[in-house]
Amino acid sequence: MVSLDAFAAGKLADLEARNLRRRLRETEPLGAVRVLRDGRELLSFCGNDYLNLTQHPAVKRAAMEAIERYGAGAGGSRLVTGNHPLFRALEHRLAGLKQTDDAVIFGSGYLANLGIIPSLVGPGDLILADELSHACLLAGASLSRAEACSFRHNDLGHLEELLKTYRGAARSCLILTDGVFSMDGDLAPLGELAALASRFDAWLMSDDAHGVGVLGQGRGSSFVTGGKADVPLQMGTLSKAIGSYGGYLCASQPVIDLIRTRARTLIYSTGLAPASAAAAIAALDLIEREPDYAATPLRKARLFTESAGLPIARSPIVPLLLGDEKAALAASQMLEDEGFLVTAIRPPTVPEGTARLRFTFMAMHDDGDIERLARLVHNRILPAAAAE
Ligand SMILES: *Cc1c(COP(=O)(O)O)cnc(C)c1O
Repeated sequence: MVSLDAFAAGKLADLEARNLRRRLRETEPLGAVRVLRDGRELLSFCGNDYLNLTQHPAVKRAAMEAIERYGAGAGGSRLVTGNHPLFRALEHRLAGLKQTDDAVIFGSGYLANLGIIPSLVGPGDLILADELSHACLLAGASLSRAEACSFRHNDLGHLEELLKTYRGAARSCLILTDGVFSMDGDLAPLGELAALASRFDAWLMSDDAHGVGVLGQGRGSSFVTGGKADVPLQMGTLSKAIGSYGGYLCASQPVIDLIRTRARTLIYSTGLAPASAAAAIAALDLIEREPDYAATPLRKARLFTESAGLPIARSPIVPLLLGDEKAALAASQMLEDEGFLVTAIRPPTVPEGTARLRFTFMAMHDDGDIERLARLVHNRILPAAAAE
């Protein structure tokens, strides 16, 4: 096995030299926003637990009760061992939240996209994806073996051009986009995308991993304008604002029935753990009961952008582009020295030359801490970035 180890070591050395090596660093959560790393307490501004529901007593209690009653794991695929009553209840709740006929849940958001996209399109079909779409939408697209092409980020003109050129020759066409872009925090123009999709007989799918629970009174990015954007395929995750684990698709009855019949990541993978399903249901209860709480992370993000002198936040995600990997790592280290955990995001997660800090805001963040962080950014990171 010498060649295998030599291969891995060589690859790692190359990545290290380019500041692209990644390391898992042991970090123990201490409640909602504090963590313990290397014996030091830090305030985390990089989690996706936007509503801090992973720590909510009602959510934890629901998970514990599900374990007591049903056990720790699902024990098999839903189509083989039978559908768990908690799964049916959770799907019903998700469909209600998103105002669709039905919903189907998956083991994770990543697995959802790998299952959904190849069930809908294949060779002879066309996929047009926003160039900043999440990695798992693109992975689902390549797994489908449909012709895939990306359009410039949020560029409706470019998408229209591609539709005019390529739509005619394809049987079906699927348009893919994040609802809230995970590394940029901006929103897709879903209403306009839906209009284009309808004009060219294409199907629009949004990945709302970072929108559900926190935008549109908790219903997600299709609902931010007050009405509802016409997005027939609304996918998302239970693992972020919903505080649990798992993925979902909300859509019409025939589409959901087709996905249940065809999606390989549903058929050939074990169902969600009962505790995850029960926790998600409890979280949805809280989100529906308190839509104002759902808006808290965005309010916190806006306090930050205003205090730091950055463009106003559109979601709980605020990027600060620094360009160079080294600069992003240095800024992250400076903040860590000051007691803040803000991870540097580097290629290939983001395009070459756009390494950045990515701040995320959670409901339980203290306003005073946010202002202290904003002052550090304003006084110590922005001047250095401007001098580059
Ligand atoms: C996190 C994320 C996913 C993956 O969801 P998991 O449930 O964590 O697998 C999918 N899409 C986007 C846009 C994400 O940010």
